[in-house]
Amino acid sequence: MSATEQAGAQTLDLIIRNGMVVNAESMQRLDVGVKDGVVVALGLLDAPAAQVVDASGCFVVPGAIDVHTHFHHWVSYVGSHNADDYDTGTQAAAAGGITTVINYAFQEQGESLRAAVDRDLELAQDQANIDYGLHVVVTDQADSVVKEFPSLSADGFTSVKVFGAVTGFQLPDAGILRVLEEAAANNMLVNVHAEDGALIEHLTESFRTRGETGVEYLPRARPAQAEAIATRKIAEYAALLQAPVYFVHLSTAAALAAVRDVRSRFDKVFVETRPVYLFLEESVYERPGSEGNKYVCLPPIRSAGDSEALWAGLARGEIDTYATDHAPWRAAQKLADAPFWKIPAGVSNLQTSVPMLFSEGVRTGRLHPCRFVAVTAANPARLFGMYPKKGVIAVGSDADIAVIDPGDVRRLTAAHMHSKADYDPYEGYECHGWPRYVYSRGQLVAERGRAVSRPGRGQLIRRGASLLDTV
Ligand SMILES: [Zn+2]
Repeated sequence: MSATEQAGAQTLDLIIRNGMVVNAESMQRLDVGVKDGVVVALGLLDAPAAQVVDASGCFVVPGAIDVHTHFHHWVSYVGSHNADDYDTGTQAAAAGGITTVINYAFQEQGESLRAAVDRDLELAQDQANIDYGLHVVVTDQADSVVKEFPSLSADGFTSVKVFGAVTGFQLPDAGILRVLEEAAANNMLVNVHAEDGALIEHLTESFRTRGETGVEYLPRARPAQAEAIATRKIAEYAALLQAPVYFVHLSTAAALAAVRDVRSRFDKVFVETRPVYLFLEESVYERPGSEGNKYVCLPPIRSAGDSEALWAGLARGEIDTYATDHAPWRAAQKLADAPFWKIPAGVSNLQTSVPMLFSEGVRTGRLHPCRFVAVTAANPARLFGMYPKKGVIAVGSDADIAVIDPGDVRRLTAAHMHSKADYDPYEGYECHGWPRYVYSRGQLVAERGRAVSRPGRGQLIRRGASLLDTV
């Protein structure tokens, strides 16, 4: 990228001028030339262009790729879909600098994986404002549904998920082993929600018996050990089977230590973390009234020490990706009188995720700008088979670009969010840095924190195999 690559005499659609262009490997002040939705030139550009935007003082980064979202997700223990559909969810994403999402398509009991994928595709094609892929979640009958892996993989659905715990979604260990083995044979990556189901059930039952049902008991019913035990076990399964594995929303120092240990013998173990574990602490569950209910997540929000370990892991490269697990609910659903194990899990996070990582990470110096791009864009693209079409600003890549203005300081409030969740977990946070412009395939999809897109313009990304050796 150091050499000036000119676009010849053609008229460009767009030039983004004078910004600091950041990729995972390097950063440099460059102009970016876009034509027909693709980056066609980088350098000092004097070609004619239909539109020129000035990015002086801004970071020009690949649009973020959020590989962990839940849109229109039916949760049986709540008896409801969560708050966002593909339209409002992807508007929130675009407004916060995200240009690609991978949503989870859940297999219902007795259903084929293909039926789960088709159900989500039908919604996404009419509603998505930005590009999207799908992971499929195996919740039932692993032995038979793994036979669908070759055809799903060939069609661009190259990742599956399993749950070690969580009522309704949990797969027995035998099923997890089967999925790991068959996924590896079909160039698919297995995403794991790692918590030990037996331990959590036992502890939850103990609290229930004692009448200790308030949200303040949640962290003790789903302790760090439950995550560390499951992470170590499934990482060891993966190592024995030589099957690549990806731990979603890793939340504790103990689980990261387990990964570090297994990685010394098998390096195809990958880790994602999530904003709530970086920006919040478990004392939120002690808030008066039922306020703590609003922060119920699985795994729960952890200690300050865990948060520090995750920040260090992001900076050192031990944590590969940063994704939201966006699972929005309305406050009334969160606050309804329920024991802690029946409070809808998850929070809205898509619109604030990237700006807050910039504000707390890049601005403070905790995270080098190149690491910021690695965890938000380049690594997700590589792990989930979209690189270099996505995840990098390079000639030939899709013009998925966010122009981040470090001087845009705003106080976060639910009223400014596109999500249909009517509260925000970071209400009142002063965020330093926000995307001024967000482009998806060269089209402006958000400006200064508002989506300006059109539902249905997003395209399905049929993904290839993971580029595991480059992460
Ligand atoms: Zn999730």
